[in-house]
Amino acid sequence: MSLQTLLEQGTNPPESGVLASHPFSTDSFDSAVMSTYARFPITLERGAGCRVWDTQGKEYLDFVAGIATCTLGHAHPAMVEAVTRQIQKLHHVSNLYYIPEQGELAKWIIQHSCADRVFFCNSGAEANEAAIKLARKYAHTVLDIENPIILTANASFHGRTLATITATGQPKYQKYFDPLVPGFHYVPYNDISAVESAVTELDEGDYRVAAILIEPLQGEGGVRPGDVEYFQKLRRLCDEIGILLIFDEVQVGMGRSGKLWGYEHLGVEPDIFTSAKGLGGGIPIGAMMSKKFCDVFQPGEHASTFGGNPFVCGVALSVCQTLEKENILQNVEARGEQLRAGLRAIAAKYPHHITEVRGWGLINGMELSADTQLTAPEVVKAAINEGLLLVPAGPKVVRFVPPLIVSEAEVNEALQAVEKAIASLAV
Ligand code: PLP
Repeated sequence: MSLQTLLEQGTNPPESGVLASHPFSTDSFDSAVMSTYARFPITLERGAGCRVWDTQGKEYLDFVAGIATCTLGHAHPAMVEAVTRQIQKLHHVSNLYYIPEQGELAKWIIQHSCADRVFFCNSGAEANEAAIKLARKYAHTVLDIENPIILTANASFHGRTLATITATGQPKYQKYFDPLVPGFHYVPYNDISAVESAVTELDEGDYRVAAILIEPLQGEGGVRPGDVEYFQKLRRLCDEIGILLIFDEVQVGMGRSGKLWGYEHLGVEPDIFTSAKGLGGGIPIGAMMSKKFCDVFQPGEHASTFGGNPFVCGVALSVCQTLEKENILQNVEARGEQLRAGLRAIAAKYPHHITEVRGWGLINGMELSADTQLTAPEVVKAAINEGLLLVPAGPKVVRFVPPLIVSEAEVNEALQAVEKAIASLAV
């Protein structure tokens, strides 16, 4: 079925297998599922392209994309074909055997990045865990560091496992979960002197800095792009003192920034980088890529049951190939410029409410003024009333991360909805 046919079906979703005999209610959901999310009162049932429909048949323009994940939008024919093909052929076998789809996906990533080798897992947090383990083993076995420290940035986000909430430089994610994992130290983002001081101070004690883990653009922390000069100095510093530079590309990578990898905006290459979210277009997959330091892990030292199985790799490969074949990065750049220009025009009309619009490609943030009561969740709710899904990135930043296939008309439609939402709140 083509994307056009799916879009034309509009509010007439095909009956879904599991749900056909179990009508959905939010009460029964809440009684069965742990309340780890503060959910909006919307139950999404189906999607096509950049649109999703709820159980009442209401249509939304999706500028959340599963939080920067649905690269090709919903029900893209290439994904439908790849999912069907792969499930019919072979979906899961152990990594005790060779998996051709995994090898092909790894080769695609290597051909399109600075990586020399790939490790596959299931999520961004797990990819970062793998990077942290690799950095620690490298510190112990090559750098001869007894107590290695990994520097991370304030306002960063690296995941929800114990090590990755510790790496995350935001205390709100760590509260109640101590004792945290030792071996992390935080520095302000985009501030090279803070890194230099931390390296010196830590080296004077019992610890030594072994690696820096950092996002090329901070996503959850408020859509803050990395500064080119800072990252170039960071690369030089890591080379001079022989420590690893690790980039978390989980949110900004895989084409979302208008370039395949966020580091391409900064003119530097990492030693290790991680990916997840957009890599599988919505199929759960994570990956940790290494340049040079490829033989640090030996058999048995790191693993994942599901990591890189034929199903996820076959589908992720189709996402990667579609990105390339359909020249989607060009669309990301053009639509990103259109979106930022439109948001800046709205900001100019509401200077007391909106202070800045920033981002790369199709990861953009609209910062609300600290002087108003207006919060990002309020703007998101008002946008939902206008039929547009958005997501906050902190209390004062509204994030725009649509599927990378979003059209010019859809960006215009989203801008109209944002303007109406702001107008409804600004009165
Ligand atoms: N790293 C970054 C930069 C992220 O934005 C996220 C998720 O938002 C993660 C890591 C964690 O990814 P996951 O939720 O797939 O574990």
